[in-house]
Amino acid sequence: MINYMEENIKELKEYAYENNIPIMQDEGIKYLTNYIKQNNIKKVLEIGTAIGYSAIMMCLANKETSVVSIERDEKRYLEAIKNIKKFKLEDRIHLIFNDALEVKLNDKYDLIFIDAAKAQNKNFFEKFESNLIEHGTIITDNMNFHGLVFEDEEKIESRNLRQLVRKIKEYRIFLENNQNYDVEILNIGDGIAISVKK
Ligand code: SAH
Ligand code: MG
Repeated sequence: MINYMEENIKELKEYAYENNIPIMQDEGIKYLTNYIKQNNIKKVLEIGTAIGYSAIMMCLANKETSVVSIERDEKRYLEAIKNIKKFKLEDRIHLIFNDALEVKLNDKYDLIFIDAAKAQNKNFFEKFESNLIEHGTIITDNMNFHGLVFEDEEKIESRNLRQLVRKIKEYRIFLENNQNYDVEILNIGDGIAISVKK
């Protein structure tokens, strides 16, 4: 049983690698799943499903965890549906096929995991923080952007890339100055921000 699951997870990771789908790095997913176990996180909202890898890993970390996850890319959304079935997690992972900025949710979540378009992090944060329970956590991936946030901006040749790096830096400052949250930015995986509502 365990071997069968491990084989399926390996296949997910291989598919992601071959198709250039930026699923969470090993260190990051380890941190996220540990966080879920240790804090007994039950309800998760994820922005950016891709092929369902992180949603599946979060559910495997805790039997009581359920995930609502939003994805705007149809091919990835359909692939995620397939993968979730493979793990028999249809009852615990609910996918929404839409741009997250168009989605309105009424439920509250213990954890919101932001892992979508990096330039939109602040918009996602501000849009969905009303869906966070009291003292809930917002986790954001890719805070380091492959180390580019620590580079001299002038050295980044592409204008688009430079703008994206600037956006991530702005988001880091937005989090650090946010009085409503205790924020920690960890150099794990591609950099993870943990923001706990005070
Ligand atoms: N969390 C996944 C990886 C997500 S990759 C994992 O670790 O397994 C980021 C995904 O976010 C991409 O598939 C992209 O299509 C999606 N995305 C980006 N912007 C989005 C938006 N505004 N709304 C919904 N999905 C978005
Ligand atoms: Mg990511």
